[in-house]
Order: sequence, then C-alpha cells, then structure tokens
Amino acid sequence: MELNELPTIEVELVKESKIASVDFNDLPFGKTFSDHMFIAEYYDGKWQSAKVQPYKEIALSPACNVFHYGQAIFEGLKAYYKADGSGIVLFRPEKNAARLNASAKRMSMPEVPVELFMDGIRHLLEVDNSFVPKQTGSSLYIRPFLIGTEPFIGVRSSDRYLFIIITGPTGAYYDEAISVLVYDSYVRSTKGGYGNAKAAGNYAGTLYPVKLAKEKGYKDVLWLDGEHKKYINEVGTMNIFFVIDGKLVTPETDGTILDGVTRDSVITIAKDLGIDVEERQISIDEIVDAYNAGKLTEIFGSGTAAVISPVNKFGYKEKDYPLDETKYVVAQKIKENLVGIQKCMLEDKFNWVTQVN
Ligand SMILES: *Cc1c(COP(=O)(O)O)cnc(C)c1O
Repeated sequence: MELNELPTIEVELVKESKIASVDFNDLPFGKTFSDHMFIAEYYDGKWQSAKVQPYKEIALSPACNVFHYGQAIFEGLKAYYKADGSGIVLFRPEKNAARLNASAKRMSMPEVPVELFMDGIRHLLEVDNSFVPKQTGSSLYIRPFLIGTEPFIGVRSSDRYLFIIITGPTGAYYDEAISVLVYDSYVRSTKGGYGNAKAAGNYAGTLYPVKLAKEKGYKDVLWLDGEHKKYINEVGTMNIFFVIDGKLVTPETDGTILDGVTRDSVITIAKDLGIDVEERQISIDEIVDAYNAGKLTEIFGSGTAAVISPVNKFGYKEKDYPLDETKYVVAQKIKENLVGIQKCMLEDKFNWVTQVN
C-alpha cells in the first residue's frame, strides 16, 4: 500500500488524565491501561480511518466473526525509558509489525501497513508518555490486535476489521522462577496448524489444560509436539531454552512454535557471547536423560512480557525434576545483556533499539 493511501490519524484527547491514580510501585501485568487507545477501521478493501482516542469500550455487532469464528490476532511489545532518563525507546518493533502480518495472512485477514502500525504506536507514546514507567524492571506494554468485525454469521473471512492498540504500564510478568508441567495428552499446536501465528485461538485451547496444571501446583505448561507428543514445543507464552553440556538448545521454528522476538534476541546474544547454540528437535526423553546424567543445568523461557524467566522444575509422567535456578549462569548473563541493550545501558551493537521521543 502506498503511504499516501493511509488514513490521516485524528486525535481526540481525554478531558482528564487518570495518571494520578496509577501506583507505579505496584503494577501487576495487564491490569492498568493508559489514557488513550489507537483504533483503525478496514472495509471496502482498505484502511479507511485511524484515530487516537480516549481508552474506552467499543460497540460491536453480536454477529461479528471475532465472537463466533475467532478471527483475532495480536502482538506484544514494550517501550522503555532509557536508563539515563533521556528518552523512550522501542525494542525491535519492526519484527512485531512483520509478525502481525504473517499472522494476518495465516488467519485470512488483511495486512496492517507497517507505517500504520508504527504511527499508531508513536502517537500513543506521544500522548501517553507519562505512563511509561521509569522504575527498573518496569515498562510500557503495548498490545496491538486485529479482529474481524463484519456483522455476518456465515463461515468465511470477515470483510471488516478493527486494528486497535492499547497500552499500559507494567512490572514483571512472573516475579519468580516458574514450574512447568509436561503433558503427554493435551497439545497446543501441530504441523499444518497455526501454532506460529499469534492468534487468540492458540490460547483459548490451552486455558483448560493450564488450569488443570495450576491445580496440581505448576505455574504453566511446557507443551510437546502434537503428532508424537515427544518433542519439546514451547510454553505457550514463552519460547523455551535448555542448557545441556554447556550448550544452549532450543526447538527450531518448524511452524508449530511462535517465532519469538525475544527468542531470536537470546540466540543472537548467546552466539555473540561465544556460547554454542543449537536450534533443533529436542525430545522430552533427551531432556530427562540429560537431567539424570547431571548435564541439564538450566531451563528458561523467553518472551516480551516475561523477558527471561527461569524454570526451576518440570513435571513429566508423574515425576518432578527440580533444578536450582540460583545457579543459572547462562540465563543470567543473557538477561543482563538483553536488558542492558533494551534500557540503553549497553551498546546497541545489533541495531535493535528505536528511539521514539
Ligand atoms: C508472544 C509469544 C511468545 C513470545 O514471543 P516474543 O516475541 O518474544 O514476545 C512465545 N510464544 C507464544 C505462543 C506467544 O504468543
């Protein structure tokens, strides 16, 4: 789409900011929202309008595709205050824009032009910059999403869509190491499915097995592949990494896992630090064997919300395999480097950081 075909962004500001009611020292993930949202409408085959407006409810026909057939995809990225307070930066936002469009293609939805995605975020950061936390470990979480909104309950792709961006200040996603349950029954994704799309439906199907895992005392689920229930997939909100014999090992992006921006950043940083990285199939049996041989020294997840999250126990076939996360050196080193680049405390040697204002 040509730049000049994009709608101009209208701006309607709140009458009164809610910033005074935000406790920046207590920010649970996903509960606090900034003053404004961005909303763009697609119909008649193109993006027709775009607006920054007060964060509020939206009215939709009960017949919309999103409510019945789940045309819904999303993204997640963060804006950070530079450690020296000199401005706000985004971390690799063009990767999120590209992935939104890859998800859109898979779910038969229209692409969101990268300029619209970036301009929407830039406008929100301008009007809501006071919502970007300055505290260490906190950031502004940005949630762009695209939904099918045609009022029609026949089964086909919607011909109307809304692209919306909401934002909110947030602290750490998991504040401590997590335990995960490995199922040999439920799966999240399979070859030919859409596990690599950031689609709402990928989550809906996992909520029940995750709830059962929580009832058993685990924090989350580490999924196996859909076909053999043998190969490691991912956590569902995070990609997964193992340190085996000093090597960093992670499942390859085979279409069944989400191609995480954090995953890619972890791999790049690890290689740069001289750590051997293997992207390949990893069976749960290999993990159990490595554990029993004392060769499995670390497990951690990676994702925008959680950044790097140590896993200190996995359960598989009624047996628990605990690990001491206080001894994780690889996870710690990679996290320091990643956060250092994100907060502009270290040289941005991979060109990952975009200053917005
Ligand atoms: C978003 C997401 C991740 C993490 O991706 P990042 O780009 O690193 O935030 C991992 N798995 C799933 C299923 C996801 O939706």
